[in-house]
Amino acid sequence: MSDPLQAPRGTFDILPEQAPLRLTVEKVTRAVLEGAGYERIETPTFEATELFTRSVGEATDIVQKEMYTFTDGGERSLTLRPEVTAPIVRSYLQHGMHKLPQPVKLWYLSSCFRYERAQKGRYRQFWQIGAEAIGSDDPAVDAESIALLAEILEQLGVQGLQLRVGSLGGSAARERYRELLKTHLRANEDQLAEDVKARIDLNPLRAFDSADESTRAVMATAPLLLDHLDKEDLDHFAQLRLLLDAIDLPYVIDPTLVRGLDYYARTVFEFSSDALGAQSGVGGGGRYDGLAEQIDGPPTPGFGWAAGIERILLAAEGLPEPEPLTVLFVAIGDDDPATRAAGFALSTDARRAGIPTQIELAGRSIKGQYKHADRLGARFVATVSGAGVELKDFESGDSTAFDDRDAALAAVLRGKGVA
Ligand code: AMP
Repeated sequence: MSDPLQAPRGTFDILPEQAPLRLTVEKVTRAVLEGAGYERIETPTFEATELFTRSVGEATDIVQKEMYTFTDGGERSLTLRPEVTAPIVRSYLQHGMHKLPQPVKLWYLSSCFRYERAQKGRYRQFWQIGAEAIGSDDPAVDAESIALLAEILEQLGVQGLQLRVGSLGGSAARERYRELLKTHLRANEDQLAEDVKARIDLNPLRAFDSADESTRAVMATAPLLLDHLDKEDLDHFAQLRLLLDAIDLPYVIDPTLVRGLDYYARTVFEFSSDALGAQSGVGGGGRYDGLAEQIDGPPTPGFGWAAGIERILLAAEGLPEPEPLTVLFVAIGDDDPATRAAGFALSTDARRAGIPTQIELAGRSIKGQYKHADRLGARFVATVSGAGVELKDFESGDSTAFDDRDAALAAVLRGKGVA
């Protein structure tokens, strides 16, 4: 039974008291990324289902059981985006962005939808900030992108961060390695968890993600992809590490780092935080040089990451408290329609003059209006009555009477330094 008075399971309202913190995340992200030449992009909330089945991968959890897919009135299969990289690569290809200077650097703040087991830090609609650099396979792209996410997380005060990096190599090496791994898994099949066993052929690498103890013991002796990479991929990975070392960004190499999306090749990375519980991943990403071809585009290298805003906020400390915005509160001294109209006109004049202003809207007593203005954090209260305007400055405690609105507003502007 669905309850119309409850938001759906795994979703949440962003209430006004949370909005300022989220705005801080957006502002810091924007400043860091746009400072490095990234530009904002926003793609539609839904896309053709095939975009995700082809890119994220048929064998992934996301495609197999987490997508919100529906058929529209025109019998098209559409899916609420479970991630934003594939839509952005689609947009890059659709709009011929290969003609722009490469790499094209884009950032976003978008909601994503996954039918997951809802718990703290894991929701069915959640928000991601993310960055994509498309059109270059230079390892400097990888290093710079990782460094920018590190900078954002640091500026936001995310606690207990750890960075893990790995390389998945190119598709040929990965194919060879998959066969090796399958052989190892088959040889130990009786000790594997059922879901791992069922996916030996489909997605053997995900076995490294299993929480099952006996599976983990099997994986401890499994061959590692990092030991089976081609020389070019090893060189690429070595150059990335050199660049991360050059900026003293601490990381550990994790040869078993597997991400839940199939399009990654070469570099993968993840930031986790020990300030979070079971859902410790704050953000991660990697290189996806084959993705464009998977969706019928020309070969186009790319690198990107996404970080969850809810996880960032759970792991962040010391984010600034929001400042009250309202400067002026217009109180209404009596019920006379002319007085009410004069107050209304004063509030509109004040806004036109650039003063953040609220006006009494609920018929409170004068005392109640003063209390309300204080609660809002207003610096001034202008009380309009038949004879004129009385301006109270909460900071100095002074009250001054003015004959007309303009003189009162001029005093507010002088007092607040609003120009
Ligand atoms: P992914 O696209 O799976 O690599 O996820 C990137 C980041 O998005 C993760 O590190 C989390 O911070 C966040 N994230 C992923 N799934 C969820 C979810 N169901 N609820 C909240 N945040 C999520």
